[in-house]
Parts: sequence; C-alpha cells; structure tokens
Amino acid sequence: MGSRSTTAAAIGGKELLKGAVLLRTISCGEIRRDHVGSRVELAGWVDRRRDHGNLIFIDLRDREGLVQVVFNPETAPDQHSVAERLRSEWVIQVGGLVRPRPVGAENPKLSTGAVEVAADAVEVLNESRTPPFEVSGDAEVDELLRLRHRYVDLRRAPMRDMLILRHRVVKFIRDFLDGRGFLEVETPILIKSTPEGARDYVVPSRLYPGKFYALPQSPQQLKQLLMAGGVDKYFQIARCFRDEDPRADRQPEHTQLDLEMSFVEQEDVLNLIEELYTSLVSAVCPGKRLLTPFPRLTYADAMADYGTDKPDLRFGLKMADLSEAAGNTDLRVFRSALDGGGIVKGFAAPGCAEYTRAQLDELVALVKSRGAAGLVPIALLGERGSIHDLTEADVRSPVARFLGLDAVKEIARLTGAGRGDLILVIAGPPKVTNTALSALRNELGRRLDLCDPNLYAFAFVTDFPLFEWDEDEARWDAMHHAFSMPRAEHVDLVESDPGKVIGQIYDLICNGLELASGSIRVHRRDLQERIFKTLGYTPEQVQERFGQLLNAFEYGAPPHGGIAPGIDRLLMILTGNHNIRDTIAFPKTQNAIDPLFGAPGEVEQTQLDELHIRLADDV
Ligand code: ASP
Repeated sequence: MGSRSTTAAAIGGKELLKGAVLLRTISCGEIRRDHVGSRVELAGWVDRRRDHGNLIFIDLRDREGLVQVVFNPETAPDQHSVAERLRSEWVIQVGGLVRPRPVGAENPKLSTGAVEVAADAVEVLNESRTPPFEVSGDAEVDELLRLRHRYVDLRRAPMRDMLILRHRVVKFIRDFLDGRGFLEVETPILIKSTPEGARDYVVPSRLYPGKFYALPQSPQQLKQLLMAGGVDKYFQIARCFRDEDPRADRQPEHTQLDLEMSFVEQEDVLNLIEELYTSLVSAVCPGKRLLTPFPRLTYADAMADYGTDKPDLRFGLKMADLSEAAGNTDLRVFRSALDGGGIVKGFAAPGCAEYTRAQLDELVALVKSRGAAGLVPIALLGERGSIHDLTEADVRSPVARFLGLDAVKEIARLTGAGRGDLILVIAGPPKVTNTALSALRNELGRRLDLCDPNLYAFAFVTDFPLFEWDEDEARWDAMHHAFSMPRAEHVDLVESDPGKVIGQIYDLICNGLELASGSIRVHRRDLQERIFKTLGYTPEQVQERFGQLLNAFEYGAPPHGGIAPGIDRLLMILTGNHNIRDTIAFPKTQNAIDPLFGAPGEVEQTQLDELHIRLADDV
C-alpha cells in the first residue's frame, strides 16, 4: 500500500506500510466528492463499527474528522474478516477506493458524508481496551474519569476543537505582536519569589542545601528588567504559578500573554489591546459581535453601577444607591445598615413584578449565600409602564407598610423601575452588599435571557486605587501589585493618605470575567521605595525581594507599562465554556491534583536526602 512502503504486508497481497515514512496519503476528515475514483490510504481510530450482516461499516476518525469505510466480504474477504474483529478506539490503517455513497445514504451532517471508502487493505496498528467513555457522541462524562484518561478525552470533538482554536489564538497573537515590533523573550521558571499577592510554589535546591527557588507568580519583575535592558517591546506566552486556594476559574498554573512596552502611556497599551482583541475575534470567531470602541469605566463607576470591577456588560440592570431614600423610611433593616456605616442599594428587574414566592425565595437564598443578611423585594404591579399614578395597592412587598408610597416612588425613580418591574434591594456593609447584589444581577441577567450569545462585551476598567486596606492584617495592600505608578497628582498622598491614591492601573474584562490586568509602572527608585514602605516592607525585605529591580532603576530604566491577558480565560470566552479545565490540555482538578500522573506524588528517600529535606513526623 503506497509507494513509500518498505515492507509488503499480509492482507490481500496489498502493500501495507511497515516501518514506512507515512502511513496515510490523506486525512479521514479531508475526503470529499473530488476524491471519488482515487485510491486513498488512511490511518486513524475506529469510531464506530456497524455490522450489517454482509457489509461492515467503520467510521474511521482522525484529527480532521470521520469517514465511512466499507468492508465487503465478496470483494475483499480477508479484509472483511479483519474488520469483524475491530472494536472502538482500535488504531488501524486502511486502503481503498473513494466512491460516492449510494443515493439516500448520504449524511449531510458529516463533511465527508457524500462519500465512502471501499476497503481493499487493512492493518491493525494497535488494539484498544474498551475505552472508559465514548469518544463520539455528547454524553456527559464524569470529569475525573476524563482527566484520568485525558489521552482518550482529547480525541473528543470539543477538546480537539479547543486545542485547534487555542493554537490559532496563540499564533494570531504572536503574528500580531511580531508585526508591531515586539520581541518574544523567554524568562526563567526557576527564580526567586516574585510576589503578586499569592503564595509561591517553591523548589528546593540540591546544590545549595536549605535554599529554594520559587516558580514565578508572573514574569512581572523580569519584564520590567527587560525594559531596563532596552528590549523596548516584549511579550511572552508565559506560564504563571500561584499556590492559591482553589476556585472554579483558577488553576495552580495558568498561561498569560505577558507584555511590556517602553516609553508608553496608558492609552498606548489600551489601544494596542483593543486592536489585538478586535482583530483576533474577527479572525478566529467571525460572526461574533463586540462593543466598539471598547467601553471604558472607572473602577469607582463600575463598583457604583454594577457592584463589581468585572461587570458583565452584555446587559444593563444598573444599580442605584438608595441610601438616602432608604434613610427616609421606617424600615429597621435599612436604618441599622446605614447607622453601621453600610449602604442600601438595588436595581430593577424588568417585567418580574409577578415573581412567585418560590422564585423570590431562590433569590433570597442566593444573596444569603453571598453573605447578605437578606433581600427586600418591591414589586410594582400593573400593566408595564409609568408609575405616576401608582397607589399603595400597587406596591407588593413584605415591608411595604414600613416604606411608604413616597419612598417607593423615589426608589423606583432611582432604579428606573416602572409598573410590572421588581425592585431588588440589599442593605448592609458596602463590600458584602455589592458582592451579593452583583451575583443577583448576574442571576437575573441569566433568568431574563439578557446575554446575547454572539456578543463579547470587552471593556476596560481604569483608575483603580493603588492600595486597599486589608482588614484582617490591618495594613495596606497593593490593589494590583506593588509596581504600579500612581497618578501624578496623587504621588504626594502615598504616605499621608494611601486610600486616596489612584493608580495608572487598568483591567480588561469580558462577559463578567477579568481577562487582564496591567499598569504603567514605577521606574524610579525613590518612588518605588516609598510605595514599598506604605505596604509595610522593611528596608531589608525590600532589598532582599526587590533589590534587583531597584538597582536596575538606578541604571537608566525607561518609563514603561504593560498588561498580561490570561489565555485560558480568553479561551473560556471564545469557546463559551465555563470550566477553565476544558481550555487546557492537561489541567489540574479543582483540588490541584493531576489525576493522570497522580501529581503531587511522593519522591524517593534518596531524593529527599540529596536535598537535605526531612519530612515532619505528621506527614
Ligand atoms: N503581572 C501582572 C499579573 O500577572 C500583570 C501586569 O501588571 O502586567 O497580573
């Protein structure tokens, strides 16, 4: 079979490839009507075998798709008897003639559905045990089973499509940035602690007992050092390692497009990113819509209007601060929240005035799960429309009599609610209220089907505070990381009023996910030291952890800034998948386990001895 064959093989006297250069002349999924009449050699996996008494049909699958292969006992008896043994996921090589399928037997759902291959040669390249789950079909499969047999899982169409898309996305990014003068530079994986607000993964050093490398939480300092090194425009498809508590959309290691530019201002970075994402989406996901130009919100406005710094902008449901109106009511929950320094905030759910008790109970349970004490629903009854003639009888709320008609009208005005709408109000400390209300807003967006599946609502959130107060530790923390530049007019507040300092910090968000964070960086030693001081580092800690960066600042570091969009999360958006693990070839579970390799695992005693490590008695 095939002219490159070195050894003729058994079946039907045909030349089958053994030790040949190529086992196939074309991919299964590529065969079309144009190939009718030509002989092909194929290699792939048995997707399905159908035994029709006389004829045996095999769907043969490779990365490009499926093609139907027919074994006829009359014309190819030896091959037919091999085909009788074939089972799902066996790897075979087949040769045969492409012919049109009989009229009526075409499968329009399959790209190869107009043709079939009449086998005249077959060889089993490898058998397979019964696979742990079906490769074809879209049955829900237990995720642990999928991860344990990832090599089988990767043969399934959604995973194959994801890997192809991921490849195309990364290739697009590389070409785009190459065209704009960026250099791709690799930075080390074994490095020293590079704090980004998470815990480090550490690697013990054999050569220097008692000393450790740390895996980079991101190449942040390294890319800044590259700017000091005159690289000017850098990028890297970089792996970042963060030993954080597991969360659904997090992985212990994730991939970023890490980039940094010299001699730029915030606008330059945002414009580049907007151009990158706009052209990327039109290249790899034609038919999807974007909001252009990307909307820009300040952090303060995002928090006020949506209760979060990563609002899903595919829909409105804007929130209103109702504290003042609530202060004029007799409702105790409002008053005590306000007296305790809290807020009262809410939004209108259009057309939901007739929500049942059970529906409202579900919403109450949701906000309670996010820490809120409760939810005040106010339904405005009647035909949808204006509230100018609203009466007390039109207001349905468990607390209606404590509110009074005037306050309800004011709350309706502030939230933009009309008759037929349901106003949802939460009172409490600002952080909890915002978190719960934002979850509620997302839930209503989903229930009301407000998310256009073809819309990618990219947006920039800007003007983040440089510092945030950490209640538990009673100290200032960096909102983004320690290296961001304050706004020029706020530099003087770094020591005297850190909470007021706004940084030149920006995020890219999309459909409720944070896709990227970045900032213009500090590039002078004195200002960077002042920021570290406010963050509570001693001069010794600063020297130990950041000495390399501060020294570089003293040797002519240029002004610079950058950003680092997550690749895994971008793939979540582009594939519409809510599970980050489905965007990564070999992910860890939510509990940071690799079920395929069984990592983390134990190491040999000799390895521990070499590292001078003794395990504590309690492990
Ligand atoms: N290093 C930052 C991060 O990983 C991104 C940046 O500021 O460029 O979030």
